[in-house]
Amino acid sequence: MNTAEDTGQKTDDRGFATAARQSLNRNAAKPLNVLSSVLCPLSSELRGTLRHDVDMRRHVSWRAGGRVERMYQPADLDDLSAFLKTLPADEPLLAVGLGSNLLVRDGGLRGTVLLLHSALGDLRIEADGSVYAQAGVPGAKLARFAALHDLSGAEFFAGIPGTVGGMLAMNAGCYGSETWDVTARVQVITRKGEVLERTAQDYDIAYRHVVLHAEQEEWFVGAWLKFSAGAADVAREAIKSLLNKRIASQPLNLPNAGSVFRNPQGDYAARLIESCGLKGKQIGGAQVSPKHANFIVNVGNASAADIENLINEVQATVEKNTGFSLHPEVRIVGEAV
Ligand SMILES: Cc1cc2nc3c(=O)[nH]c(=O)nc-3n(C[C@H](O)[C@H](O)[C@H](O)COP(=O)(O)OP(=O)(O)OC[C@H]3O[C@@H](n4cnc5c(N)ncnc54)[C@H](O)[C@@H]3O)c2cc1C
Repeated sequence: MNTAEDTGQKTDDRGFATAARQSLNRNAAKPLNVLSSVLCPLSSELRGTLRHDVDMRRHVSWRAGGRVERMYQPADLDDLSAFLKTLPADEPLLAVGLGSNLLVRDGGLRGTVLLLHSALGDLRIEADGSVYAQAGVPGAKLARFAALHDLSGAEFFAGIPGTVGGMLAMNAGCYGSETWDVTARVQVITRKGEVLERTAQDYDIAYRHVVLHAEQEEWFVGAWLKFSAGAADVAREAIKSLLNKRIASQPLNLPNAGSVFRNPQGDYAARLIESCGLKGKQIGGAQVSPKHANFIVNVGNASAADIENLINEVQATVEKNTGFSLHPEVRIVGEAV
C-alpha cells in the first residue's frame, strides 16, 4: 500500500476521473474492479468526496492502525445510493461512523470505506412524534435534540461517542438502556443502492450483537426512534450527571475505543481484568488503563498490533486465571503487516 497524500477530491466529473486515473497508476500492480467502475459515466452524477490511500488513524478513536485504499463520503443518501450503483458486486465495503469501536490493522484495508458521519446528518421530529435520525448523527447530538424537544429516554446516547449507524450496528448502550430498546424501525441501504425499511424482527438482537436474518450485505442509513414525553431541564440534568460519571470513571484524556471486551454473563470484564493484576500492563504504546481496566489506551504511537497483542494477552491471562473467556466488543478489520 503506498503512502501518497490522502487529499479529498470532490467528485465532479474531472476530479473523479483524475482521482480514478491516479488510483490506477498507483495500483497498477494490483488492479481492483472498482477502478474501472469509477470511470463509468454514472460517476459524473456523484457529489460526494472520494479519497485514496487514506490514513485511518484520523478516523478511529484509538488513533492507531493502517490505511484504506479508498474512502467515499457521500453528500447525502441519494448520493450514497448513486455511488453504490457504480461499484462492482465484489468491492469490499466497510461503513464507518466515528470509528469509536474500530481498529484497522497496520497492513491496512482493501476496498472502500463509506464514511457516514457528517454525511448523513438529517435529524427531525416526525408527525407521529418519533425522531428520525440519519446514520451519521452523533449520539450526543441526538440526546441534546431529544432533550430540547421535551423527550425522555435518549439521555444515554450522550455518553456514547458514536453515530446512529454505529450504535445500531453495535446495539450500543449504557446505564441500562440499549439502542434497539428505543428503535421503532430502521432504514437501510443495500449494495445495489436500494433504500429499504426494516424492524427489529428482521434481526437477531442481543447485548452488543445485531445480525440481519437475511443473508444480504446492507448498511444502516437512518432510524425512527421512540422516546417518551419528558421535560427538557430534567433530560439536560440527566445528561450532565451521566457525563460527569464518565469523566470520573473513564480515561477520556487518552485515545481509546471504550470498553474493549463485552461483559461475560454474570460478571464484568473490568473486574476480571483488574483481578488478574493487568491494570497498567503495556505492550508498545498500548496500555490497559490504570483508571478503567476494560479500556486500552494509546499512550503514544501505539500500533494496531500493539493494541491487538495486548487484547490477546488480556484474554489469555483472564482465561487462565479465572476461567472466563472474554470476547472483544471492538471490531478489528484489515491485514496485519
Ligand atoms: C470513550 C468511549 C466510550 C464509549 N462508551 C460506550 C458505551 O457506553 N456503550 C457502548 O455500547 N459503546 C461505547 N463505546 C463504543 C462506541 O462508541 C460504540 O460502539 C458506537 O456505537 C460506535 O459507533 P461509531 O459510529 O463510532 O461506529 P464505528 O466505530 O465507526 O463502527 C463500529 C462498527 O459498526 C459498523 N458500522 C458503523 N456504521 C454503520 C452503519 N451505518 N451501518 C452498518 N454498520 C455500521 C462498522 O462497520 C463497525 O463494524 C465507547 C467508545 C469510546 C471511545
